[in-house]
Amino acid sequence: MKVTIESLRSDILKDIADISGENVAECYQCGKCTAACPVNQAMDILPHQVLRLLQLGLVDEVMNSKTIWICASCFTCAGRCPRDVDLANVMEAVRVLLLRERGASRIKAEDMPEILRKGMPEQGIVSGFRKYAK
Ligand code: SF4
Ligand code: SF4
Repeated sequence: MKVTIESLRSDILKDIADISGENVAECYQCGKCTAACPVNQAMDILPHQVLRLLQLGLVDEVMNSKTIWICASCFTCAGRCPRDVDLANVMEAVRVLLLRERGASRIKAEDMPEILRKGMPEQGIVSGFRKYAK
């Protein structure tokens, strides 16, 4: 992993803290969040590694990861954390910042495949747009 000055983005770290209400410095890397995460196998950065990268100020590694979009916002990690760090809130804050920064939603209604529009429960559609759209 290449560390550059530009990747140490303290302004973004403050925004993540403000939006999420979480203090990433509380994490002591026990790994319980990763062990409990039901989708960790699909992630390119594991949940506890997300916290470590943010502690080190390596925001871009997190923002460019697949992990923040794969996170299912299930809050399992938050329930297991002995330090009361709610990683789901942190993931959400990073997604919100990216959507704001890029000025566009990650998905649009017209992009949804026909099968999803017909078969997905309304609650799932609403949750999806809450996660992927402004
Ligand atoms: S469970 Fe909490 S303290 Fe342990 S690695 Fe995950 S976020 Fe950090
Ligand atoms: S909220 Fe995200 S990171 Fe936490 S356990 Fe669920 S899917 Fe994994």
